[in-house]
Amino acid sequence: MTEEPPELRSPPPLSSLSVVSLFLDFDGTLVAIAPGPDQIEVPQGLGLALETLGARIGQRLALVSGRALRDIERHLGTPAIAMGGSHGGEVRLADGKMLSRAARSLPGTVLQAIRAFADAHEGVIYEEKPMGAALHYRAAPDRAEEILAFADEMARQHPLQVTRGKMVAELMPSGFHKGAAVETLMYEAPFVESYPVFIGDDITDEDGFSAARSMGGFGVLVGQSRPTAAQYRLEDTRAVYDWLELNL
Ligand SMILES: [Mg+2]
Repeated sequence: MTEEPPELRSPPPLSSLSVVSLFLDFDGTLVAIAPGPDQIEVPQGLGLALETLGARIGQRLALVSGRALRDIERHLGTPAIAMGGSHGGEVRLADGKMLSRAARSLPGTVLQAIRAFADAHEGVIYEEKPMGAALHYRAAPDRAEEILAFADEMARQHPLQVTRGKMVAELMPSGFHKGAAVETLMYEAPFVESYPVFIGDDITDEDGFSAARSMGGFGVLVGQSRPTAAQYRLEDTRAVYDWLELNL
């Protein structure tokens, strides 16, 4: 049985929501998806626009991404906003205070095996991350099954989790997901006692949608409808900018 994608409306205007916290995914939500992780085009002024928006809503704004914090900063600069990087493995507040940073990566032999797999499969890009490694296969979509089978096998042999995104499979220590980043921040000022709204496009954002929902807020899916924990939907990054009232 295939589940019918729900018909989701646009969220109510941001200005109509009171005491809201915004949790924003990065790739596919604030910047268009690119063939490789380093090929994204970040609109000029995005960092500043997010900082301004954060100030407008009492600093209750956070980026929540699968990218490492240092990777986000390489693309966005260092706006004074809260961030959850590495699927919640690194969480810090707008003033730079780190709330959590997982010290764990994967054993060198595991990283070597993942790299060797990428080297042996054309179109598969290896990316080492602070807490593990990712295999990107946007240039080799027909290898998806093979890559996921490899990742699952690695996770079975070692105490790891596979985090699946759009055209990417990531191997990292168990226990991290975007919902955990939302929960970590929601216990901290100025987020505490607000209504979380999580906006994202990917499968990995479903944990963020669920976390927002369980804390009285809601999720906003970006892109085509699909079975989701989000209650609302926006069509693309342009629609996200418009909803956030970002002048980009
Ligand atoms: Mg995304």
